[in-house]
Amino acid sequence: MLVVMREDVSEDQVAAVVARLERDQLSVHRSDGGARVVLGVNGTREIDPRTIEMLEGVHEVLQVREPYRLASRSFRAADTVITLASGPAEGLRLGGDEVVVVAGPCSAESRDQVARTAAACHRGGAKLYRGGAFKPRSSPYSFQGLGEEGLAMLRDAAREEGMALVTEVMDAAQIELIERYADILQVGARNMQNFTLLKELGRTRTPVLLKRGISATIEEWLLSAEYILAGGNEQVILCERGIRTFESATRNTLDISAIPVVKQMSHLPVFVDPSHGTGRRDKVAAMARAAVAAGADGLLIEVHHDPDHALSDGPQSLHPAQFEQLMAELRIIAPAIGRSICVETERRSGWGR
Ligand code: PEP
Ligand code: MN
Repeated sequence: MLVVMREDVSEDQVAAVVARLERDQLSVHRSDGGARVVLGVNGTREIDPRTIEMLEGVHEVLQVREPYRLASRSFRAADTVITLASGPAEGLRLGGDEVVVVAGPCSAESRDQVARTAAACHRGGAKLYRGGAFKPRSSPYSFQGLGEEGLAMLRDAAREEGMALVTEVMDAAQIELIERYADILQVGARNMQNFTLLKELGRTRTPVLLKRGISATIEEWLLSAEYILAGGNEQVILCERGIRTFESATRNTLDISAIPVVKQMSHLPVFVDPSHGTGRRDKVAAMARAAVAAGADGLLIEVHHDPDHALSDGPQSLHPAQFEQLMAELRIIAPAIGRSICVETERRSGWGR
């Protein structure tokens, strides 16, 4: 249920409506995005909408068709823009006019590898560095990541280049540890429906990059985002990373049409990962260009200073020169659809030391 307040509503009237709803054990999420204050109401208890319609300051009560209420455009008409509140990329806006590029290796492997790759990503114009320390691998015999040692390496390399860090959290028990190192927490495709993890992420106030599950419908994906939003964490970024289809020429089928579809259904920023989406270095640039042209708010691209010797996802990781070339192309495409890709690549060496 959505409670739309009158344009001239007072704070006291809003507070009275919230208190009335909470009296019935309903949870209330407030949106101030548009011209009117909107209250998103969730809970298992039934309440007669007329009871609320009668209250002072209420314009109308709407029943939301979408099961993902807080993630829906009905709840918040304007695009959500997530502004990083701290760290080296403090003030960076995700979901605004600028298309933000996140780049880095699939996994942290050594101090030398993360440092060299971070320098290459920053040179190309990436604002955020991304690498994994806890890796969800299909086989238990594949490289599983360096754990906390990898987190420290990634954080140091990102800080050295003045970039914020995105890294994956695989389990609710890891959140506290990873938050000490990262600025954005990634939920991988395989964990998109790890509801315990999603609920715990709802309690943090760190932005979450939520990848689409390997076989998830868009509605299921938005419902997973809803778990995080319902917990009170409003900073969710969706990331399309390809889905499993009958096609085997690429590792996954990157669903480019999901970008305009999701942007109509939801106010949340949509990023695209063409690296996992294709699984092939030679196809990454084409799909990255297509994603920006289709309206993606950001990209997540795997880059490695020496991909032929990478411990994970080498075949889909770009060489530094390929990444720089791609960024140059994206800077031409973005303005054609009214977006920009910031060209600032100044080295803010040694941030936070
Ligand atoms: C990754 O980002 O390296 C990764 C494992 O991605 P996904 O969860 O999309 O497979
Ligand atoms: Mn990977």
